[in-house]
Amino acid sequence: MQNIARTVGFKHGERNVFFHILTACNLSCRHCYINRAQHGVTTLSREKIEKWLSLFADPGKKANLIFLGGEPTLHPDLPFAIKKAKELGFFVTVDSNGYLFHDLLEKTTPELLDFLSFSLDGPDTATNDPIRGSGVFEVCVANIQRAVAKGFNVSVIYTVSKKNLQALAAMVPLLLKLKVKRFFIQVIGLRGNSAQNDSDETMQVSRGQWLATVPEVARQAAEKGIHVTYPQVFLGPDETFECAGNVAENFFIFPNGRVYQCPLCEDHPINAYRIEDDRLVKNEGLTEERFFRLNIAEGCVMNKLLQADNIEYDGQGNPKYDGQGNPKYRISCCLLKREIG
Ligand code: SF4
Ligand code: SF4
Repeated sequence: MQNIARTVGFKHGERNVFFHILTACNLSCRHCYINRAQHGVTTLSREKIEKWLSLFADPGKKANLIFLGGEPTLHPDLPFAIKKAKELGFFVTVDSNGYLFHDLLEKTTPELLDFLSFSLDGPDTATNDPIRGSGVFEVCVANIQRAVAKGFNVSVIYTVSKKNLQALAAMVPLLLKLKVKRFFIQVIGLRGNSAQNDSDETMQVSRGQWLATVPEVARQAAEKGIHVTYPQVFLGPDETFECAGNVAENFFIFPNGRVYQCPLCEDHPINAYRIEDDRLVKNEGLTEERFFRLNIAEGCVMNKLLQADNIEYDGQGNPKYDGQGNPKYRISCCLLKREIG
């Protein structure tokens, strides 16, 4: 049967919780989105992690919990956090840069940890290491092999930029060799380091480059039995625009207590919620929610505000859109995904 990519609409009644338990990291990737000026340098205590997890647990909902950092395995209580999250009914994932500190594989089990995700930005040292750091490819691949040998479900995350788009296809044989079950392709965004570094604007791939490469590589991987997820990014004329902030339940929690609903907002103090005295509190005033309600021809409002260079206009001189004309296409919500396999 032929594999065909499908858009995965936002699921009502499903909750995704992205929990940054610290912001420290042993690496300094070029495109790191962690912004310590905005998210602090705190490492949450074991007690806080347990209390904050319970704020987002809802037995009536299918809920995914993703532990992130910084590098979450730098936290010595990560195995405890995984166990608590599982007890609360979450489907639990850890996103690691591959270093697996504190003997994570010995201190948790595939029964508690549903997926262990590794970040690789290239199929070899020559592509990956200039982006993620010297020696990182070798360590990450060795630990993927150890995790698979111990029976963990392993996925890989690949952040596409101009620096590694050409190498994406070569990931398929590597993932097969490593017995990776799921492949997440992401697009580089202008957040964190990328937003600070002007030259990184040129790291974003164009619509043509994205469409010419990503769907085809995803199809090839799916044909070999790997489940692939990648962002929709561009909406066709007949596709509906929806802002996840209005229709879905996504929470991005940072160790300084900020809780966002939209990842594109994370460089700004406009978080919709905060955790105060271990309670979830809704913020008043100008928060990200105000932006979610705006209806513009370009689709995603935050994309238009933060990284408008990825929109093309038809030049027909409609003064409503900066005299540039009408947008040729709309940008989807960054949380809208396509799946294949
Ligand atoms: S992208 Fe991840 S692994 Fe890389 S520096 Fe940032 S937190 Fe660390
Ligand atoms: S990325 Fe855009 S569309 Fe998605 S939640 Fe954020 S503002 Fe809304």
